[in-house]
Amino acid sequence: MHISLENRSGGTCECCSASPAQFAFTVSPKKEEPQNQVALCDVCFTDVEKLSQGEHWRCVEGSIWNPEAAVQALSYRIASQLKGSSSWAQNLLDSVEIDEDIVSWANSNQMNQIVHLDAFGNTLENGDTVVLTQALDVKGTSFSAPKGTVVKKIRLVHDQSDQIEGKINEQTIVILTKFVKKN
Ligand SMILES: [Zn+2]
Repeated sequence: MHISLENRSGGTCECCSASPAQFAFTVSPKKEEPQNQVALCDVCFTDVEKLSQGEHWRCVEGSIWNPEAAVQALSYRIASQLKGSSSWAQNLLDSVEIDEDIVSWANSNQMNQIVHLDAFGNTLENGDTVVLTQALDVKGTSFSAPKGTVVKKIRLVHDQSDQIEGKINEQTIVILTKFVKKN
């Protein structure tokens, strides 16, 4: 742990105040530098990504008021991830006022960058034209689209990185990305 982080934290966990805090946790996606790190104890460090110990994390009700941006961002992120299962977390998010850039830092882990790749690893985008790399049965019809069928103006299925939508035979169907090649 960097000496400045050690001094800042005073050797106690910046989430739950337990000591010793021996771990420097970098709040993604920022660089591994003390101002982007939070000093954590063993318990917090082990569970900070799984968040399996729901009640333990009520400690962020305190740490979210820490003047350090990294501690605020991590606390906010933890509360956001627990708000579905814990009413205290939702209450906390409703009651704090946090700078917008810290909120977006906290939430940046949720913009899970979904990338759609074709059968050859090319990145697919909305509006692309693709070619089927194998024959596909069109669900609910007796129609089978032969290999080599061109599908224009595809749409990416936003939460499914392995699926796109496209029109075949005037019908919009979901196609698995592994069966297409970007044209
Ligand atoms: Zn801790």
